[in-house]
Parts: sequence; C-alpha cells; structure tokens
Amino acid sequence: MSNKAKNYEVIVVGAGPAGLTAALYLARFRRKVLVIHDGNSRALRIPTTHNAPGFPDGIRGTELIERMTRHAVEFGAKILEAKITDLEQSEGGFRLVGEDGRAWNSRSVILASGILLNQVDLPPDLHEQAIEAGVLRYCPICDGFEHSDARIGVIGCDSNGAAEALFLRQYSANITLMPLGYPELSPEQSRELRGAGIAVETGALTLLEPHVDHMAVHLEDRDEPLRFDVIYPALGVRPRAELASRAGITLEPDGCIPAGSVNDSGVAGFFAAGDVTEGLDQISVAMGHGAVAATNAHNWLREQDSHTLQAED
Ligand SMILES: Cc1cc2nc3c(=O)[nH]c(=O)nc-3n(C[C@H](O)[C@H](O)[C@H](O)COP(=O)(O)OP(=O)(O)OC[C@H]3O[C@@H](n4cnc5c(N)ncnc54)[C@H](O)[C@@H]3O)c2cc1C
Repeated sequence: MSNKAKNYEVIVVGAGPAGLTAALYLARFRRKVLVIHDGNSRALRIPTTHNAPGFPDGIRGTELIERMTRHAVEFGAKILEAKITDLEQSEGGFRLVGEDGRAWNSRSVILASGILLNQVDLPPDLHEQAIEAGVLRYCPICDGFEHSDARIGVIGCDSNGAAEALFLRQYSANITLMPLGYPELSPEQSRELRGAGIAVETGALTLLEPHVDHMAVHLEDRDEPLRFDVIYPALGVRPRAELASRAGITLEPDGCIPAGSVNDSGVAGFFAAGDVTEGLDQISVAMGHGAVAATNAHNWLREQDSHTLQAED
C-alpha cells in the first residue's frame, strides 16, 4: 500500500443522506471529490421510512443509501471505506488520516459524520431484530404515525422522556413513561404528564424482552412485565463531532457542531452537514444540508481560484 497522500478538492466524511447528497452535488460541480465512510450510516438501520419525500410507499434505509451511492458515483464521486481518526488543518487545506495510517489531503472538507444513539441494553442482534420487527423505535418524528393508537412505552423518566411521551400523545392515548434507573421528573412535569393522561411508572427497568409483535418490559416493582406494542427509549445521542473539534470548531454544549457550519464554520474551507450539526435529525434535513454545504464548498473553491476552472493535478 502506498503511503503517499492523495489530493482532492473536497473530501466528504460520511456516506449517509448528508454526505452522499454533498458528493452528488460536488461531482456535478465537476469537483474532484472523495467520500470516506466507516459503514455506519444510521439510515442503514431503517426498516422502512415513510417520511422520505418522493417515496409514498416507503423505502428501506439500505435501498435509499444504495441508490444515493449509485447516483453520486454515476457522476464521478469516489467512495471508499475507512475510519478517519485524525483531521488537521495543513498547508493548502486539510490532512485526514485513517485508522490504518492511510492519509488524504483536501482543500475543503465536509463533515457529515452523524450521531450515535444511546441505546437500551440488548444484545446487538436482538436489538436490531426488535427495530426490524417495529417493537423498538428511537424517533417519534420518523415513525410515530405508524404507531397511531398503539400501546406505547417511553423509557427515560427525565425531561427528555417527558417531552418524548408528550410528543407521542399526538398519536396515542395509551402512553406509559418508565424510568431507566430512577425517576427525575419535576412536579410541573409530573402534573403536565398527568394532565395529558400519560401513565408514569416509578420502578427501575430490569429487563426488556422483545417479541415479534410486542415488547415485554420488566420493572423492579412489578411482578408481571408490562406489555407494549412498541417502546421508544429517550436516552439521548452522542454526535460524532470529534473531527470538527480537531479542525478547530467549538462544539455546542450538547456536542453537536453549530448549525451555522453548513454555511460558515469559522474555519476556512470546512463545512458540516446532517445529524452531526445542531437541529432536526432527519433524512430530508440531512439531504438539504448536503446540498447547501456542497454548494458553499464549491463557491469557496471558486473564490480561492478567482472563479477559474482548475486543471487536473
Ligand atoms: C432505526 C432508525 C430509524 C430512522 N427512521 C427515520 C425515518 O423514518 N425518517 C427520517 O427522516 N430519519 C430516520 N432516521 C434518522 C436518519 O437515519 C438520519 O437522520 C440520517 O441518516 C442522517 O444522515 P447523516 O448523513 O447526517 O448521518 P448518517 O446517515 O448517520 O451518516 C453518517 C456517516 O458518517 C460516517 N462516519 C462517521 N464518523 C466517521 C469517521 N470518523 N470516519 C469515517 N466515517 C465516519 C458513517 O459511517 C456514516 O457513513 C432513523 C434512524 C434510525 C437509527
């Protein structure tokens, strides 16, 4: 393997809806663009999305990513799998280094690295089977509609959990909020939940048992498990924003990249897109960010080059 770093006009980190949209736009701007990803787009875990515009019958996450990849490659984007562990500003742009020691140089970077979910404690296979079966969900905005009038359990008795339970009340009158450990609700939150007809359990979660058509939830103060059609853990997320910090970006208190970084991150030539930025974590938003960040990166390069088309190196 050659250790000589390859040079690109734009490197996009991430091959989810944000990164692949950015790659498509950049390829169509005739930019030399490389997408590097480590195979962990959250979209790959979606059994079927019903709110991606243009797919009235829904589309599996794997199929969406496969189509988007094909589309970007069709116009000339290069895509390779590697985990980037270091990103630093260097003369002429940025230097990215992979876990295996490979390195790449780029004049501009778009970070579309997504977020990681804080998940409930289930063996990985069982966890993904429960998502596939539709008895475990993480995003009410994505799929609350599909669980209209269902028996819904929300896990996480804090302000996040309370907010999620109240949000889901639009879809069902049968909502129960349960603590992961111990309840952390304020008297006002408890009152609001009671007013909305949401049941609140107080015993800590001891075991989750996914079945094909329901989730059994064992709580420490109940002899029998509670049975729900679906549960929504509300346990927060961890943005994959460490590479932005390395590039010199100051992150938001919740670890996200500031929303304005889609347009201007404060670091010349560096842009961000999708879930890793502050805001609504959705496919359609990630795609929009990808288009905006790519156009900004392209225009920034044009400015650097006095608007001329550069010869291939
Ligand atoms: C179960 C589930 C169901 C969902 N349902 C819906 C739905 O119905 N509708 C909807 O709109 N949204 C849904 N979502 C959310 C949706 O998947 C995300 O909003 C969307 O994928 C965000 O796109 P993104 O490109 O920002 O990030 P992602 O798709 O997560 O992509 C991040 C990319 O960055 C790469 N990456 C990160 N760090 C590195 C690194 N250091 N080196 C190399 N590569 C790196 C990853 O490999 C990945 O390719 C769902 C999510 C889940 C988990």
